[in-house]
This record gives sequence, structure tokens and C-alpha cells, in this order.
Amino acid sequence: MQVTILGCGSSYGVPQIGCECSVCNSTHPKNNRTRASILLEIDGFKILIDAGPDIRLQALRENITQIDALFITHAHFDHIGGIGDLRAFMYGRGNEAIPMFSDNETNQIVKNTFGYAFNNKSILYPAILESNVFVGEFSLLDPKITVIPFKQKHGKYFSYGFRIGDFAYSTDVNQLDENAYKILDGVKAWIIDCIRYYPSPTHFCLDDTIREIYKVNPTEAIITHMCHDIDYELLSSILPSNIKLAYDGMKIF
Ligand SMILES: [Zn+2]
Ligand SMILES: [Zn+2]
Repeated sequence: MQVTILGCGSSYGVPQIGCECSVCNSTHPKNNRTRASILLEIDGFKILIDAGPDIRLQALRENITQIDALFITHAHFDHIGGIGDLRAFMYGRGNEAIPMFSDNETNQIVKNTFGYAFNNKSILYPAILESNVFVGEFSLLDPKITVIPFKQKHGKYFSYGFRIGDFAYSTDVNQLDENAYKILDGVKAWIIDCIRYYPSPTHFCLDDTIREIYKVNPTEAIITHMCHDIDYELLSSILPSNIKLAYDGMKIF
């Protein structure tokens, strides 16, 4: 399995519009963060987790021409805002809609927001997505990939984390429950939310993230969904070697 970090930024992205802080003004490429999204590749099968408003630029940057499935963590703009751009991947699929997997509530919101993406009425604009609602563990068939979604608290809302084999992705979370810890048990590579240094009502802050990493104890933890408070080199230099900051374009094997 190969994981590409397409974006590791918070909802504003970094640099943030109108901000003059040192990270927003930084020329260090790892301080430039598009909205959070990853691409999983398993035996040539490509799963996109979230399609935020930067998906077009992320796909061009990483030369992604194929998407075989889309998983949605939750229906906030920075995770679904680029759904319309997924039409570009239809041509390579003979206009066959991309299967989208989400929980029922997310599915309803995405359908209300991007109704046309599911509408197959016109041959000129065939449906981009075909919705699949999960209620628990589900499998993709060819190749067989077992996915275990787990609910995560995200302020007053919630998101879903995903465990696939030894890998798990937990973005947009400020609290995990016993079910999530059970599913995360034994994970080797874990991508986890850390928005900033000081507490947030909707995301793990650095103290929370470190505490969660020690609790779950993955071989390797990768921090994502970072805002402009986090300078890549500054924080990287003080983290233990098994905790890394994500950067756009980072690959994990
Ligand atoms: Zn987000
Ligand atoms: Zn800034």
C-alpha cells in the first residue's frame, strides 16, 4: 500500500488569505498546505479520501489520472468542495460513475449539495458519483480491500476515520471513543489530526495529538490538517523520530 498526502492543511489552507504571519510568508515548500486529502494505492487500485476544493491542483501536481473509489470522512467544505472536479476522472473510466463511500448523513449532505453529480439524466453530463452508504466494516471486491470506518467526534459534529490493513486515517477529530481505540489497535502507520498548538473545540491540538499517539502507539504517526501556526521545520525538529509532520506530496509505504 502506498499513501500520498495530497493535502495536509486546515480548512483555510496555508498560506491563509490575508495573513502576514511567518508561516504564511514562508518560502519553505513544506509550509505550503492545501486542504486535507490523501490517495491510497493498493495493487494499482486508487482510493481518494476526501475531495476538497484543492483536488484539481493536487491531482495535477501528483499526476493522478485515475480514481477508482472515493471515501468521504465528513461533509465539511474543505473535504467535499472539489467533488465537481472529479468529472475529469470520468473519461478514463468510460464515463462510469466513481463509487463514493460514506455514512448515511454525509451521503445526504453531499447529495443535497452536489445533486447533479449523482444525476444520470443527460448523456452529456453523466453521473460522476454512485453513492454507497456504509454502516460498519465494508469490502471492495477487486482487489479485495477491507475497510473499517470508525466514528470520531469533531466538535458538535462528527467525522469518520478509516482503517485499512495496518494503516489508519483520522482527520478532523477532537475525541476518540473506545470503539475507535479498538479498531486502531495494532495500527502501524496512523495519520492523525493536529490543527495547532493551542486547544480547539473541533480538532486535536498538539498536546492532544501526542497523547493520542502514545495511547494508540502506532509504529509511525503522521500529523495532518495543520493550520498556519505550525512551522514545518520548527515543530519537526522537536518531535520524536516516530512522529512526522505531513507535507503535501509526502508518500508513506
Ligand atoms: Zn477539515
Ligand atoms: Zn498565517
